[in-house]
Amino acid sequence: MKTAVVTGANRGIGLEVSKQLVSKGIRVIVTAREEAAAREAARSVVAGPGSAEPFALDVTRPGTIAALADHVRGEGGLDILVNNAGVALNGFDERVARTTLDVNFHGPRLVTAALLPLMRSGGRIVMVSSGLADRGGMSRPVAARFTDPSLTEADLVAHVEKFVRDVAAGAHRKEGWPTSAYAVSKAGLNALTVLLARRLAADRRRILVNAVCPGWVRTRMGGDGAPVSVEDGARGVVWAALLPEGAPTGGFFRDEAPASW
Ligand code: NAP
Repeated sequence: MKTAVVTGANRGIGLEVSKQLVSKGIRVIVTAREEAAAREAARSVVAGPGSAEPFALDVTRPGTIAALADHVRGEGGLDILVNNAGVALNGFDERVARTTLDVNFHGPRLVTAALLPLMRSGGRIVMVSSGLADRGGMSRPVAARFTDPSLTEADLVAHVEKFVRDVAAGAHRKEGWPTSAYAVSKAGLNALTVLLARRLAADRRRILVNAVCPGWVRTRMGGDGAPVSVEDGARGVVWAALLPEGAPTGGFFRDEAPASW
């Protein structure tokens, strides 16, 4: 049976992705910040033919990431990683910029770094991103840096960290950034997806990594007025988690089709 890890799986899209993966016969490690929330989610997910097991993971806490990696190692490896956990915070200041980048960009980056060595041949990594990764609100040089062909992961980290510093200095507009930490975090996530795919091209395990926008979905984040049901929003994420061999990698998709950002 294939094993998957889903982050932020106690509610919203992460919970529904876990349900859909279990319904397709996958064993899902259902993770949440709070252990009790992970346990409750795993209980609510189980209906077979797959199975669900809880694990406490806060993507901003390296100790919990390391504990998850130890657990996955002990179980013999991983086939699917869905980096779903995310925040869209109200307001705009240094604290919002810091937290948003930590959860939405560094979180998936560090979880992926810890679990990638444990991924089996044919593995799939999905970054749950957003259409708001659109770089329209950025100056041309700031936007272009995200897709610079010579960009390394260290360069990308330095780029998004400059955003946090520019926000703290009250200079983010002058420096070409949008007034949205969420947009910067998801543009960073899409750029990271491209870098990972490039690195994995030389890896014998044929692992595919793609970013997916679920659409505007009725969750706590999306609100009651969102047009897309949580079932439909999760479907595109599950599609990317189960792509067949030879499918695209390093892409950004919405409704199972390539999207621009
Ligand atoms: P949600 O209902 O607010 O769920 C967010 C999930 O992320 C929760 O399980 C939350 O856990 C978890 N989370 C937050 N911080 C975390 C951390 N530090 N460590 C681990 N988990 C953490 O939102 P959603 O709509 O399902 O969003 C899921 C993903 O889809 C996000 O990445 C979001 O950016 C993306 N997305 C959503 C929409 C939309 O319209 N809803 C559109 C585009 C993209 P707690 O319960 O502990 O807070």
